[in-house]
Amino acid sequence: MTGATIKRDLRTGRSLWADSPGLGVKTSPLTQAVAVDVAIVGAGISGAFMAHELARDHSVAVLDRRPPLRGSTLASTAMLQWEIDLTLTDLTRTIGAEKARRAYRRSRAAVDALKRIVTDEGIRCGLKPKQSLYLAGDEYGHRALETEAQARAAMGLESRYLGPAELRDAYGIDRTGAIVSDGSASADPARLAAGLLRRAGQAGAKVYSPVEVLEAISDPEGVTLTTDAGHAVRARQVVFCCGYEFPKGVPTPGAKVISSWALASRPRTPCPAWLRHMLVWEGSDPYLYFRMGGDGRLIVGGEDEASATAHEDPAKLKRKCEAITRKLRALLPDIDFEVDYSWAGAFGESATGLPQIGPVEGMDHVHTVMGFGGNGITYSVIASQIVGKAVRGETDPDADLYLG
Ligand SMILES: Cc1cc2nc3c(=O)[nH]c(=O)nc-3n(C[C@H](O)[C@H](O)[C@H](O)COP(=O)(O)OP(=O)(O)OC[C@H]3O[C@@H](n4cnc5c(N)ncnc54)[C@H](O)[C@@H]3O)c2cc1C
Repeated sequence: MTGATIKRDLRTGRSLWADSPGLGVKTSPLTQAVAVDVAIVGAGISGAFMAHELARDHSVAVLDRRPPLRGSTLASTAMLQWEIDLTLTDLTRTIGAEKARRAYRRSRAAVDALKRIVTDEGIRCGLKPKQSLYLAGDEYGHRALETEAQARAAMGLESRYLGPAELRDAYGIDRTGAIVSDGSASADPARLAAGLLRRAGQAGAKVYSPVEVLEAISDPEGVTLTTDAGHAVRARQVVFCCGYEFPKGVPTPGAKVISSWALASRPRTPCPAWLRHMLVWEGSDPYLYFRMGGDGRLIVGGEDEASATAHEDPAKLKRKCEAITRKLRALLPDIDFEVDYSWAGAFGESATGLPQIGPVEGMDHVHTVMGFGGNGITYSVIASQIVGKAVRGETDPDADLYLG
């Protein structure tokens, strides 16, 4: 085995998904003032789920200062997990047992909802059901994982603790323990978002790009968005789906923007058969995570750093990519792979480990969706359900979990 080498070419600094087929989404410039029921700011995966949810019974405008799918969605490794960055045990300590259980149940249901939407809408995005393997690490050791698996199993979640011998026999991994869980998935996040935006477009939604929203002014009847196109957008309701680019004037208590790195190997990288059906991550800080893509690429991420701008540094990309490669080799010494793509992106952390979804204080008719962690795409689904109900004048029973 020769181990991994990092190939320097044009794909350094380029996300794997930027070269996915089928990313076309019809956009228009904003050439005049428009009035709609709902304006969604941001054409990433959150804006796409939101537009898909609302376009069936509302007139919808999606506005983005870039072409669609050019924010953190393009950087995502798209492990579609119901497991939250904070364990059920820790979340129980932070927000109490009843809320923590509801948050886990809601995430579990959201991954199922995501799968249903993709199937019902016939979106071709390489969606694949997966198990997940959560390895003991420097933050959560084997005792913590054993307790965690019991807590999850007690509420009916499909998680099972593996001791070191079972872990080694089944997966060839040398760690003190792990949790194996059912019910996750993976996909190409850019094709997923593009597919959702296209379906929303078929239902009448329009995507305006490039249009930067400069300000939101709300009044009792609705909201006026001023834009750099010089034309205003008037909406009965506005939803900010701006990812980690927090909108001006919207309070973000406890939310932190950090940087994260990822790489993809060449297609058809020889890997153990079990890895085709598994998402792997670990109880460490920062944590390593990896999965396989449909074309046999290894997709690996990690090395998070508490800086909102570090992901823009090309020298850092090289070092982080080497560190991720080293860590993966230490865990799976028999895997031989060559890095084809390497990239970085902004990422988020919140005080509670849960995102901020809901009305913006002091701004009538304005909602926000932000502050997600490692299972951000699952939260995009939950956000579309909660805000969808709010826009229709209904209250989601779990809305209180995500108020920030
Ligand atoms: C390296 C990396 C790996 C990740 N891995 C995973 C993973 O495995 N699983 C998972 O679930 N999540 C993962 N995530 C997180 C996930 O990708 C994010 O939660 C998700 O992409 C957020 O999508 P979004 O649509 O909210 O934001 P974005 O995709 O960032 O979209 C926001 C959009 O808003 C636009 N915008 C912002 N401000 C304005 C404005 N004023 N006017 C007009 N437009 C504006 C931006 O141009 C952008 O297009 C990962 C993230 C990173 C960086």
